[in-house]
Amino acid sequence: MNDLSLSGPELFAEPREAGPAPRRRSVGVAVGGVIVGGGAPIVVQSMTNTDTADIAATTAQVEALFRAGSEIVRITVDRDEAAAAVPHIRDRLAARGVTVPLVGDFHYIGHKLLAEHPAAAEALAKYRINPGNVGFADKRDRQFAMMVETAIRFDRPVRIGVNWGSLDQALLTKLMDENAASPAPRPATAVMREAVIQSALLSAAEAERIGLPREKIILSAKLSDVQQLVAVYRDLAARSDHALHLGLTEAGMGSKGIVASSAALGVLLQEGIGDTIRISLTPEPGGDRSREVKVAQEILQTMGFRAFVPVVAACPGCGRTTSTVFQELAQRIEADIAAAMPVWRERYPGVEALKVAVMGCIVNGPGESKHADIGISLPGTGEMPAAPVFIDGKKAVTLRGAKIADEFRALVAEYVERRWSGSR
Ligand code: SF4
Repeated sequence: MNDLSLSGPELFAEPREAGPAPRRRSVGVAVGGVIVGGGAPIVVQSMTNTDTADIAATTAQVEALFRAGSEIVRITVDRDEAAAAVPHIRDRLAARGVTVPLVGDFHYIGHKLLAEHPAAAEALAKYRINPGNVGFADKRDRQFAMMVETAIRFDRPVRIGVNWGSLDQALLTKLMDENAASPAPRPATAVMREAVIQSALLSAAEAERIGLPREKIILSAKLSDVQQLVAVYRDLAARSDHALHLGLTEAGMGSKGIVASSAALGVLLQEGIGDTIRISLTPEPGGDRSREVKVAQEILQTMGFRAFVPVVAACPGCGRTTSTVFQELAQRIEADIAAAMPVWRERYPGVEALKVAVMGCIVNGPGESKHADIGISLPGTGEMPAAPVFIDGKKAVTLRGAKIADEFRALVAEYVERRWSGSR
């Protein structure tokens, strides 16, 4: 045993600090009333998938995304009917108390739509410009300039959003040719990444030259490959101080999309990169669009950047839990909290940070419960029918009998009242 024990520097080394790298310094951009970058909390945003010309459907979906917690919502503006609908959508939302900033997503004819629909240009809080498809050949610069000039006229920020699926082909060809002629050509993927980065940086520089202030420009560079995305954003972050919008494009459906987005964004956020995030999930047919908002919030909350809703930690269960008592209790606690949150949020500011643990047996139950604000360790198979409750890391009471669940739920409500009632 002695041979295996640690001593000397292994034992006494200073433990590493837990937590992300310091946030990268970026220029803050006001999008409506929401600040992106400049040290502001990382913003959650989302995008509708309704036909924007369908005013009722788009208004309903924007409202649902907003109610789910989206702080900015992007809508497609792809034709005259969509542009004409934008001010009506904004007005209907305002009448329902929804003041979330709307971003117009423009491709191909954005310059024309913004010029011909000034009411839409005014109703939108930001314009998304894709430099890869703003126009071709000699029209490209003119049409890009027209969109930037509209942004200047209406005092709106833009997001210069590069996507490798619609990358500026002229720029890519130029860099590929230069690479081929160089004595030590780099791999094609490296050149493609450079084209993505240069497309964003050169477009931003051009927008500034036209007269759009730096604090009106956000950049994004979306790719669908996790490793390529991480590499591009690392470089983009090092080569500019623009606020950055993070997102893995075409992330996919279900768990694949969630895992890929979480992996990519988790790495970047941990490195201090990213001022706003969007999770591009493909919804199941008839699925809930708001899921992308929940996933974005969960990424930020899991990593400790922001708190949106109280967390209920439950163990996965194993052969020590032959009954479903603890799963049911975890579910009921989560449902209780979800139902109470609209009132709690008003009455108890800060309650989003609440952490509850519901554990299945004595193995990890007491330890995990001590890490939570309030936790319960239920009896596993063959254990004494007693459930110790820990509050703020200390054992507070042991519950017994048929009413354990109800008593614990009451203790959670009491804890919230006691801890956050004075915080308003
Ligand atoms: S806490 Fe107990 S019941 Fe839960 S997973 Fe661990 S050993 Fe299994």
